[in-house]
This record gives sequence, C-alpha cells and structure tokens, in this order.
Amino acid sequence: MSRRRGLTALVAGGAGFLGSHLCDLLAADGLRVVCLDSMQTGRRDNLRSMEREPGFELVEADISEDLPARVLSPRLRPDLVFNLACPASPPHYQADPEHTMMTCILGTRALLRLAEASRARFLQASTSEVYGDPEVHPQREDYWGHVNPTGPRACYDEGKRAAETLCFDYARAGRAEVRVARIFNTYGPRMRSDDGRVVSNVVSQAIAGDDITVYGDGSQTRSFCYVDDLVDGLARLMRCDADPRGAVNLGNPVELTVGDLVERVLRMTRSPSRVVRRPLPVDDPRRRRPDIARAKALLGWAPRVDLEEGLRHTIAWFAGDRPVTKDAARAAHGIAAA
Ligand code: NAD
Ligand code: UDP
Repeated sequence: MSRRRGLTALVAGGAGFLGSHLCDLLAADGLRVVCLDSMQTGRRDNLRSMEREPGFELVEADISEDLPARVLSPRLRPDLVFNLACPASPPHYQADPEHTMMTCILGTRALLRLAEASRARFLQASTSEVYGDPEVHPQREDYWGHVNPTGPRACYDEGKRAAETLCFDYARAGRAEVRVARIFNTYGPRMRSDDGRVVSNVVSQAIAGDDITVYGDGSQTRSFCYVDDLVDGLARLMRCDADPRGAVNLGNPVELTVGDLVERVLRMTRSPSRVVRRPLPVDDPRRRRPDIARAKALLGWAPRVDLEEGLRHTIAWFAGDRPVTKDAARAAHGIAAA
C-alpha cells in the first residue's frame, strides 16, 4: 500500500459509478486523487467520501473538448491517468451517439497526450462490448469480436474499439505506457436508479413493487461482477509493471440468464412485482462470459464477492441505506471485509 504514497492519480469519469469507487480505493491506498468529470452521468454525491481526502479535487470538464488549464498545468502532472469517462449504459450512451463517439476518440486522445506529456501510466476502461454479439464463448482477449458497426450500439462499441486502437498505437510508438481493461457488466451501490441497465432496473423495480421489465424472453446471459472486485482489478492492472501486451478482461465468469437474475432479486427482496416482457433491443448480445485466465496469471486477480452477497449490498443501497464509507457499509450490511 504505502509504496503508492506520494503519487497523483487523475481519474477521468471519477464522479460516475465505477470511477467514484476507484477514487475511494486509490485514496485508501495513499494516492492523491484528482477527478475530471463533465457530470453527464456522474454525481457529486458519489464523491462525498472523497471530500475528506487531502489534496482531492474535482475538475468539471468534458474530455471531448480542450482539457482545462488546471489539468494541463505542470503543477498537477499526474503519475497515473485512468480514463473511465464515458456513459456506460445503453440508454445514456445512445442519447447522444455522436458525443459518445467523440468522448471515446477525442477524449481518449486528449488523455493519452496528457499521459505522454506527464510520463504517466495510462489505463483505459474498455468494455466487453468490443466483442459485440460474440461467436466465441467464453470471450478471450484474442477474440476480435462480432460488432455491428452501423447499429444503435455502434457509437459505444466502435468508439471503445477505436480508443483501444489509439492506446496500443501510443504504446507501440513508445509515447505512453498503457493498460487496457475490458470490463464486463458490473453492478453495485452508486448505480443510478435511472441508469437503465438490468441490475439497477430490476432491483429498483422490485423494491418499489413496480413491474419488472424483461427484454426479450430473458434467456440471454450476462456475467455480473461486483464493483469492489472490479475496481480492485483496475488498480492491480495499473500497478502491474510488466507490460501485459494487450487488453485484459475483468469480470466475473459466473454466467446466468436475465430470467435467473430476476428470480433471484424477487426472492431476495420478497417483492410482489410481476414480470412484464418488453422487446429485445436491437443488437442485444445473446451471451457474455469473460475468460479471465490472463487477469489471474498477470494480476493474481479473481472476483471474490459472489452474486448473493453483491446483490445484498446493492439491494440495501437501493433501499436507501447509504453509508458514506466502505467500512460503514460493510458493518451495516454484514459483509466481510475484502
Ligand atoms: P457512469 O456513467 O456511471 O460513469 C461515467 C462517468 O464519466 C460519469 O461520471 C460521467 O459524467 C463521465 N463522463 C461521461 N462522458 C464524459 C466526458 N465526455 N467528459 C468527462 N466526463 C465524462 O459509468 P460507469 O459504469 O461508471 O462506467 C465507467 C467506465 O467503465 C466507462 O468508460 C464505461 O465504458 C466502462 N465500463 C463500465 C461497465 C459497467 O458495467 N459499469 C462495463 C464496461 C465498461
Ligand atoms: N435488460 C432487461 N431489462 C432491463 C434492462 C436490461 O431485460 O430492464 C436486458 C438487456 O436487454 C440485456 C441484459 O439485460 O440483454 C443486460 O443489459 P444491460 O443494459 O445491463 O447491459 P449490456 O447489454 O450492456 O450488457
């Protein structure tokens, strides 16, 4: 832990769901954290625990536009640049597809240039969406994917693919040391109730007693990773001194159908909600499961929080129990320390 003290981390997208948990972890690890966020989907409330951290700053700016002087200032000079800035849920990233694409491409370029100028290590939050609707199962990093480049998900999928290309071009040219994490569906406290993804929708609908919306017949699969495990993986990947020479999958390999997830949430919340079917969105992937052999070998990483425990934590949070710190959350929800 202490070897990280004295370093400054810039976290773009740090006011969002994953970014804010990452800020907490980095601060606990002794780093000074500067968060750069446009607040498009992020919230100040997610950073309440950071307000007490020495040196913490929130800079509000859009990474697809010119970076603000505060971030470019030689006095800031980050040692680590994490790029998590991009809306992640389909309704949010499809609301302004051109902006999503520009966030992925121009935003990633701007942050890579900053990393180059500061000699900082750079981590890109990529996604399992680079695999599209996969023909190979489970997905390994050497699978090139099956993405529709013109459909409604393309602004995100292709934007993230182009961002990966930029990262590895910078790395090949010796312009920046890069780490690329392909993140699979992650859930937990601080997801927005209007996020639109399946876990936040189903949990908030079940708690409110509203109809549970299942898109299609519910037989499509996903593999859900609890947020604490995921940000631990991101921090390990950034810390890893050996060049991984490629992207690294981070996700929980336990795969289940959307129908199974709904049943589990209904049981855990004892909800009277009924299930209603809605049309399956265009290009919705049929199945998803990460092969995490690379992350295990390179980072000694594997998820530790099982679905039951992660959902318990998430349900408590959506039900309104929102302790500021992780320790308080664990104590309140009876969850073992990580
Ligand atoms: P989120 O929407 O909660 O967080 C994204 C953050 O980025 C928000 O705070 C938002 O305000 C900010 N942002 C968006 N566009 C920006 C811009 N142009 N300039 C500056 N800030 C901007 O999403 P999340 O779930 O926390 O996802 C974080 C990252 O991880 C994203 O890059 C996403 O693509 C990636 N990811 C997430 C998941 C997941 O399951 N949560 C899966 C795969 C990849
Ligand atoms: N989904 C659903 N009901 C919802 C929201 C999503 O059935 O209220 C489905 C969605 O169609 C997809 C799966 O759940 O098949 C996961 O969706 P999510 O948006 O969480 O993630 P992604 O598709 O990006 O993996």
